[in-house]
Parts: sequence; structure tokens; C-alpha cells
Amino acid sequence: MGMIGRRALGRGALGVVIGTALLALGGGSALAAGEVNIYSSRHYDSDQLLYDAFEKETGIRVNLIEGKDDELIERMKAEGRNSPADVLVAVDAGRLWRAQEAGILQPVSSDYLSKTIPPQYREKDGHWFGLSSRARVIIYNKDAVKPEELSTYEDLADPKWKDRLLIRSSTNVYNQSLTGSILAAHGPEKTEEWARGIAANLARPPQGGDTDQILAVAAGEGDVAISNTYYFGRMLNSDDPKVKAQAEKVGVFFPNQNDRGTHVNISGAGVAAHAPNKANAIKFIEFLAGPEAQKIFADANYEYPVLSSVPPHPTVAAWGEFTADKLNAAEYGRNNAEALKIMDRAGWK
Ligand code: FE
Repeated sequence: MGMIGRRALGRGALGVVIGTALLALGGGSALAAGEVNIYSSRHYDSDQLLYDAFEKETGIRVNLIEGKDDELIERMKAEGRNSPADVLVAVDAGRLWRAQEAGILQPVSSDYLSKTIPPQYREKDGHWFGLSSRARVIIYNKDAVKPEELSTYEDLADPKWKDRLLIRSSTNVYNQSLTGSILAAHGPEKTEEWARGIAANLARPPQGGDTDQILAVAAGEGDVAISNTYYFGRMLNSDDPKVKAQAEKVGVFFPNQNDRGTHVNISGAGVAAHAPNKANAIKFIEFLAGPEAQKIFADANYEYPVLSSVPPHPTVAAWGEFTADKLNAAEYGRNNAEALKIMDRAGWK
């Protein structure tokens, strides 16, 4: 667990810290503005830009605890009423759903958030809000596959892809959410059959993250992979010419364009159940959904903004518009646990 904030979070230290901030900033505004304690499991370097921008605009000090998602959820549960957490920031609706189920988030209402964020990207009672989206797409080796050969996630379970498919482990939440979306579309039996087909078509046992699957396709270890879009965006813009050259060997394909649309997941945030700084917590989430922060999500991490007035990064825009699956994030989030059981049964490691 890393700590980026300027001090350890703890109730005992609060008085001292506010005094220091007052001195450092030289005025009453710091005291009035206060602070916000963020627990984040987003694992992207670009996020510091978001926190800095929020501090600069509001004068509210951001104290950041970073950790793995399930660890943070456990920690907030254990801290209970004494938790200093104001906001939980997480990737994947599956995790936001788990956090909600664990009772560590509270419903909040915000006119700005309900107007700005499309309904399928937020929990209906305001327990959590999607702040950026990412499509889970097919990446294909341009020498081995023509885009006309690609169609749907379902098709990737067809024996014609035997020994050609790369996808990470079923323990990965992105795959659980994808499978959760298949479950919503087809029910458990067909989903298990699909997962069996996926497991049977793998070019190698699942290993590594999404970027590793793309690199393997570029290297010819398989012909098609499944990845979140921002990993590919990062590779295309890499400072490392070798990575960039690998990325240029592959293409991106948005599956299921003729039916329900491509599976899209979110990164988002919710207000902690016992937030000591609730008003600042809401301000923070509203800031993340505002134009300045949305541009950072788009430009620094190649995610799709949820705010319609902010365009995606040019690299991302160049992939073209696509139809996204409208399934509410809460639905595939809820389906996560059952999806994992199905994947296990199907032999998807
Ligand atoms: Fe990721």
C-alpha cells in the first residue's frame, strides 16, 4: 500500500495538520476549505494530475491513500465509523458494486452528477458514479486477421479461433464484468458454454495484464486479444519506440456492433458511508466529472470522458465512434460473483 499524501491519515493528527496548512497557505481559506481523504485503487500515474488540479481550484487539501481495491474495501469495513475515508475511487463497476454491498458507501444526490453522467454509468441511488469509461475491445494482429473476420465476443468462442486467443485470467475483474455482461445477455447456460469456448481457444494459459495480451498478439503468439482501450492508447503514444512499433502491428475492433454493442466499463467513485468531510467528498466527485478533470482522464490516460462536451484523445477518437452496450454498470457489477463461478466451471484459469 503506497501513500502519496503528505501525511498519514489518522484522527489524532487532524488538528495539527489543519494548523500547518493554515500556516503554509497563509490564510483562513485553507481552514474554511478543509480537506478530503481519498482512498483510491486506480493504478494510473496520471491521477496525481487530477488531485493537484482539485487542490488548486478549491483549496481543499487532498490526502491520498492508495491500495488494492479489495484491500481498501476491507480496510474501510474494518475502520467502520472511525474511517477517515471520504471518497472511494475504484476501477470497474464490479468493485464499486462490491463496495456498495459491503455497506461502505452512502447514497448522495447531486444535480450536477445526475445531469452530467449517463444513467447506465451510475448507481441509481447515488452510491457511486462512473467518471470515465473504457471499452473492452478485440485487438487483432493486422497480418493475421482481417477485421471482416471479427464480429462478436460470442464468436471468439468458436473453434475457428483455437490456439489464437489471448485474454488475461478469470480472476481479473475486467473479465468478470465482461462475462457478467454476457450473462445478462444470454443467461448462465449459454455463458458457461461461451466461457468454455474461450478457455479452449487460448493461445497460452492466461498471464499478465491487458498490455501483455496486446504485446503477445503483436509478437504473433496469438492472433486476437481482449483488452481495455486505454492500454492500447498508451502503447500507441509510448515514448518507447519499440512499444509503439508493436502497437502499430495491431488493430482495434469494437465487437457486437450489430446487436447489443461493445461492453464498456467505468472507473468511478462513491462517498464513504462515514465520510467526515461529506460536502468536500461530493465537491471532489463533481470536480472529477467536470471539464478540467474529464480532459485529464481523456488526455493523460486515454479513457472516454463521461462528460459529453469533452472529446476523447485524438488517438482514441481515431478508432471511430461505436455503439456501447447500454447495460447498467450495476447489473454487470452485480453479476460479477456468478460470472467468476461460471468461468471457474468452464476451466478459464
Ligand atoms: Fe486498468
